[in-house]
Amino acid sequence: MKVADIFRSKRVISFEIYPPKRVDSESEINCIAENLKKFSPDFISVTCGAGGKGDGNKTIEIASAIKHVHGIESVVHLPGANLAKRDVLGILGELRDHGIENIMALRGDIDPGNPPKGEFRYASELISFIKGNGDFNILAGCYPEGHVESASIIEDIRNLKIKVDAGVDQLVTQLFFDNEYFYSFRERAAIAGINVPIAAGIMPVVNKKQVERIVRLCGVSLPKKYLSILDRYGDNPVAMRDAGIAYAVDQIVDLIAHGVDGIHLYILNNTYVASRICEAIDSLLAA
Ligand code: FAD
Repeated sequence: MKVADIFRSKRVISFEIYPPKRVDSESEINCIAENLKKFSPDFISVTCGAGGKGDGNKTIEIASAIKHVHGIESVVHLPGANLAKRDVLGILGELRDHGIENIMALRGDIDPGNPPKGEFRYASELISFIKGNGDFNILAGCYPEGHVESASIIEDIRNLKIKVDAGVDQLVTQLFFDNEYFYSFRERAAIAGINVPIAAGIMPVVNKKQVERIVRLCGVSLPKKYLSILDRYGDNPVAMRDAGIAYAVDQIVDLIAHGVDGIHLYILNNTYVASRICEAIDSLLAA
């Protein structure tokens, strides 16, 4: 099923997972999928390293198992920077063979040690190419605080409009800790004529090191309230975990009250955290 059909009918709840590094990744994925299934997610998306095709194969296998073995709709992430057009044609063929209809089409982060192929300079070019070569539902990323490489949020929203016009069906935001960024981004998007559903990406950050890494990589800001939590509980793993979960729940409650189209939970394969959050918001999703 294309996730567009789900977004049309309800507020969507989805999870993002990554291919486990361990050798017995199949049993780990089975365990993750069965734990998440209890919360009837609308879809699970599976990330893919921007490095190339090897990781992509694992992504497709996992997404296929989520859909066909566990009965949950799946989305395959496809970063294009290091792929040639013929690689993408091959991947689209594989997706068709696996009955996968949903792609999160991305540029991918640029690794200075592995220069991009240059055939897909931006996600928009990949999206046009996919649209011209198959009938897929396309999701894409967006950045409430602006993408780190963008000179300004205005330039970023112009580029986002180009991307959406290339054929995006839904947007999913990068994580953010201050909902006000999301609300003003949603307004800017509407003014720019971007009318596709926008799911809010929420990451329950449950340890101090994770927060520091995320802030460094994604350039997201931490509100005062979050800094106080880090200050108070950062060195107490259990308290920090519980505070991180509570903070994410608080964000989600507010987003739902503000009519968000969907919540996309970056769970980093941690089903305990996902369960705690889903239990807390269960009655709100239907309300
Ligand atoms: P783009 O939309 O191409 O934007 C990249 C930059 O180029 C932006 O600064 C934009 O303003 C600018 N730009 C865009 N179009 C133009 C244009 N026409 N002219 C000039 N400038 C332009 N990475 C992975 O490697 N694997 C994953 O699985 C993965 N999953 C993700 C899931 C989500 C929901 C999100 C939000 C991000 C994910 N990422 C993933 C990270 C993503 O690849 C990076 O954030 C990357 O730096 C940008 O990707 P993009 O698709 O948003 O790029």
